[in-house]
Amino acid sequence: MQKFVEKSILFSLSFLLLTSIFSSCKKDVEISTPTTEPTTTTPSTFDGKVIIVGAGAAGLAAAKKLEEAEIVYQILEATEHYGGRIQKDEDFADFPIDLGAEWIHTDKSILNELIGSSEPEPDVETFLYQPTDVYEFDGTNYEQIPPFLMEIFYADYFKEYKFKNTTWYDYISENFAQPVEQNIVYNAKVSTIDYSGEQVIVTTEDGTEYTADKVISTVSVGVLKSNFINFIPALPAAQIAAINSIEFLPGLKLFMKFSEKFYPDVISCETATGEKTYYDAAYQKEANDHVLGLLSTGASTEEYYQLANSQAIVDAVLAELDGIYNGAASQAYTGEYILKDWGQEVNTLGSWTAPKEVCPEDLKISPEDKVYFAGATFGDIFDADDNITSNVRGSVQAAILSGYDAVNKILE
Ligand SMILES: Cc1cc2nc3c(=O)[nH]c(=O)nc-3n(C[C@H](O)[C@H](O)[C@H](O)COP(=O)(O)OP(=O)(O)OC[C@H]3O[C@@H](n4cnc5c(N)ncnc54)[C@H](O)[C@@H]3O)c2cc1C
Repeated sequence: MQKFVEKSILFSLSFLLLTSIFSSCKKDVEISTPTTEPTTTTPSTFDGKVIIVGAGAAGLAAAKKLEEAEIVYQILEATEHYGGRIQKDEDFADFPIDLGAEWIHTDKSILNELIGSSEPEPDVETFLYQPTDVYEFDGTNYEQIPPFLMEIFYADYFKEYKFKNTTWYDYISENFAQPVEQNIVYNAKVSTIDYSGEQVIVTTEDGTEYTADKVISTVSVGVLKSNFINFIPALPAAQIAAINSIEFLPGLKLFMKFSEKFYPDVISCETATGEKTYYDAAYQKEANDHVLGLLSTGASTEEYYQLANSQAIVDAVLAELDGIYNGAASQAYTGEYILKDWGQEVNTLGSWTAPKEVCPEDLKISPEDKVYFAGATFGDIFDADDNITSNVRGSVQAAILSGYDAVNKILE
């Protein structure tokens, strides 16, 4: 904790100039190893059945750990695919595009740590993400951030990687989904979790009932807030209050294809809440296509939701870019785009948890020791000794580590 504070003070000058850049990625670089031993299977006398709700990163990680412990489990997934907020598109451009999670926060070694390997170098190619051609836009003024400040920022405050030719989805697929996919029930949208009896009865929207000894819910905090899932009995009041206290912003990603790259590496736009960032999605990829990404959460997303449809959002974005680049955006636009709206996707209902250092303890209550919660929101940046961990809250690794934690609780 102390180290983090000192660093924050030391670099407050550059940080102040850069606060609006990549709020999803604003994390310090000093990390310790994960608080959980990912692939260590805790010796246990538990030999019941576990149902996991949701096949995102948290659900798949929990399943992988149960598989290793030879515990009977099933994953009930609302959609017809796994991955949750980790999805990819391989058809739009000549490089694969991450529609959800994209950056590897902190260090690339996290990819190995999450699968229990101490090797620093992952099997897949990654690159350090350090663009220096970065501009700020407040709606009127468009100014470059001096490259030397960006260099200081990356060198001393902020570190992250990206996949070179692959995606987060490929990583999750290979390391987490494939070993457990045989136990996923797709199109199984859970509407009731009844833990009033000895066994937990989980009912899906179509009325199918599943029974188990324990349930791990990994649905997003947006889905929990929506009360779509009816818990019987109701969750403890303190836990409901904790769920409702979490800031889970609406968010979307827009990718647009252009015939030439008229834009810089990054344009960080001023916004009241969340973030709005244009970025060169092809930056340092093996690509010839010119794809500009827009990552919007919070206030800017709410503004886009006021528009009639996807095309109206694209038109608004083009108009903004044309304003900055004297019409160059419309001239170079090929007419192709992908809009992935996570805020209005019914099985997600938001983007990610606003960065907070500590996950409220009440959020982690396991009612009757029958219902457990996991997911990206259920992680702490700091461990019990105040060391910064690899568990960047709201990230992919937070989701994976929380899945491991939930299984550890069941097995302990
Ligand atoms: C636009 C965007 C950009 C991001 N960028 C990054 C990034 O660069 N780096 C990073 O580390 N993280 C990033 N994140 C965050 C990261 O994607 C998430 O934290 C992580 O993937 C969450 O995993 P999860 O398993 O906790 O939840 P989810 O991925 O939400 O998985 C929950 C699963 O539950 C299913 N489900 C929901 N309701 C039900 C139900 N009733 N019954 C059954 N199943 C249900 C859902 O379909 C889903 O598959 C980003 C997220 C978004 C949206």
